[in-house]
Amino acid sequence: MGDQFQGRVPVNKIIPFSAVDGPGNRTAVFVQGCNFNCRYCHNPETRSLCRSCGECVEKCPKQALYIENGKVLFHPELCCGCDTCIKTCRFDASPRIRYMNAQEVYQEICRQVPFIRGITVSGGECTLYPEFLQELFTLCKRDGLGTLADSNGTLDFSKYPKLLAQMDGVMLDIKAWSEKDHLAVTDQPNDLVIRNMKYLAEQGKLYEVRTVVVPGLFDCEETVCQVAALAARYLEKGDIRYKIIKYRPMGVRSEYAHYQVPDRELMEHLAKRARECGMKTVLVV
Ligand code: SF4
Ligand code: SF4
Repeated sequence: MGDQFQGRVPVNKIIPFSAVDGPGNRTAVFVQGCNFNCRYCHNPETRSLCRSCGECVEKCPKQALYIENGKVLFHPELCCGCDTCIKTCRFDASPRIRYMNAQEVYQEICRQVPFIRGITVSGGECTLYPEFLQELFTLCKRDGLGTLADSNGTLDFSKYPKLLAQMDGVMLDIKAWSEKDHLAVTDQPNDLVIRNMKYLAEQGKLYEVRTVVVPGLFDCEETVCQVAALAARYLEKGDIRYKIIKYRPMGVRSEYAHYQVPDRELMEHLAKRARECGMKTVLVV
């Protein structure tokens, strides 16, 4: 997707300091665009690229959006962050995108270098842009920064050894175990996701696996047990965390916001099952 912009990829936002996107204090980079359609996505405005339909431009209360040569563009300095544009958009897109190459993103990260332990690239789905990731991680590694990717596991990592060499690890979402359930959650199959889980674990590059628990949407207990049992087979290569995440309806598209929020008892039960299946580090959030 980035080639038409000479190595530039759509960046949704860069958070200079984040304590929730991996270990320690990190800069988190969020790219735009995703190949899944997760029913519980809490930032659906990162899924698609803006089609420049112009519908959000006149709704902007700060005149931060404008049209030039048929493209909707953005004045960041005028924006008040009201999110009216995102609420207006019918295409799960955002007009507040900057097309940036790895060097430009790195320049923004440089300001934080003395104060951060590393970077995490998230999305959307960051592995839609593997060349960008490889270049950005290479630049960050030179400064001694840690490099993590938050991914849905749909890039065949075995075909990108140079990227893997520059990446400390992946925070891998396993949305559901059975293909039927995975299709119900994301509209996409998961054979490559599971293959990636094994490959990354074998390479010592699986930092964390994660599952969002949504009772009724898929078989949560089967997923947690199967993921835990598979990950546990690789623990001698290094610890792998299993983060079990409670579904929350904030930001979820209205047509999908009816799912049941799991109670504490269910979350604790699933954490117990993950430990029984061999996981050592299980987090419930
Ligand atoms: S963000 Fe959405 S509403 Fe705004 S111009 Fe792009 S596609 Fe249209
Ligand atoms: S968030 Fe969107 S609508 Fe609100 S000021 Fe910024 S660009 Fe305009």
